[in-house]
Amino acid sequence: MRPARALIDLNALRHNYRLAREVSGARALAVVKADAYGHGAVRCAQALDGETDGFAVACIEEALQLREAGIQAPILLLEGFFEADELALIEQHRLWCVVHSAWQIDAIEQASLRAPLTLWLKLDSGMHRVGFHPDEYQAAYQRLLRSGKVAKIVLMSHFARADELDCPRSDEQLAVFEQARQGLLAEVSLRNSPALLGWPNVPSDWVRPGIMLYGATPFEQAQALADQLQPVMTLESKIIGVRELPAGEPVGYGARFVTERPTRVGVVAMGYADGYPRHAPTGTPVLIDGKPSRLIGRVSMDMLTVDLSDLPQAGLGSHVELWGKRVLASDVATQAQTIPYQLFCNLRRVPLLYSGN
Ligand SMILES: *Cc1c(COP(=O)(O)O)cnc(C)c1O
Repeated sequence: MRPARALIDLNALRHNYRLAREVSGARALAVVKADAYGHGAVRCAQALDGETDGFAVACIEEALQLREAGIQAPILLLEGFFEADELALIEQHRLWCVVHSAWQIDAIEQASLRAPLTLWLKLDSGMHRVGFHPDEYQAAYQRLLRSGKVAKIVLMSHFARADELDCPRSDEQLAVFEQARQGLLAEVSLRNSPALLGWPNVPSDWVRPGIMLYGATPFEQAQALADQLQPVMTLESKIIGVRELPAGEPVGYGARFVTERPTRVGVVAMGYADGYPRHAPTGTPVLIDGKPSRLIGRVSMDMLTVDLSDLPQAGLGSHVELWGKRVLASDVATQAQTIPYQLFCNLRRVPLLYSGN
């Protein structure tokens, strides 16, 4: 069997969820959209069920997958419904629903529902993606109240630059939010992972941690709280081939790497078809049998090459960590000019193996 696989440590997931709760002192919706950032939404939700305050997903398809697996906790649809006829399922499965657009309020007013809805009313406080304009926010709130179809409204917004710890933009967005919600007596939810870890003074009844649950830092620089996160995923494989090359020999597609000295090249069963980033350059860290080494040459679809020159013990069958507890996904992401979110979400083909549950 091909040795490429991703190990998922559910104890680490629970540790990170507890940290999110502790740090914020708020109730926390575990964000498990996009198949729990590639970690497997059902297994991750089952591991957190029983202690979580609820889950958040991108769409009803993702929510129904969790309900079908027996998850009973609240589930928030972060973009609400895309079509009005989803409201019947939202009611039937007791889903919570973001409202970000006037047409969604129209649909709620017109729907015939037996049970009142829990809605999260989204303000565009400056990210300019979705949400009501500050001037329209109070009116949207009042319309929902008057519809008679609402059990509870949570006030929410989203930061665009919370990962930049010295940037004034989050405080500006917070000021817009505070102004827009004046006089409304309702719970609030503003913080994703970077805001939760980096912006302690933002008011929170509910937080929405995503990437931090999976143990990756949302920040580019070191941050004391993010340092306490435990990586959940280990992407690993084995050496399946070894070459001894003299100086001056090209390795891989495009001859992007040429040996500068006699070099022992290890071939690893892992490629961009598994989700390892093709743009990771020579020098990207890997761990071979627990010892640091580096990627060399271009990543191909099913294989990549590493430098074994300084690791004489390593050879066929040696264990390779592409990212995990010691090679941080965020460091690999930086090398590949992307973010750990995308590395995790791009994972495919490799089996997910769970421990800790
Ligand atoms: C995805 C998402 C989150 C989680 O963000 P992280 O940066 O992964 O913590 C929180 N809130 C909303 C609205 C989201 O779409």
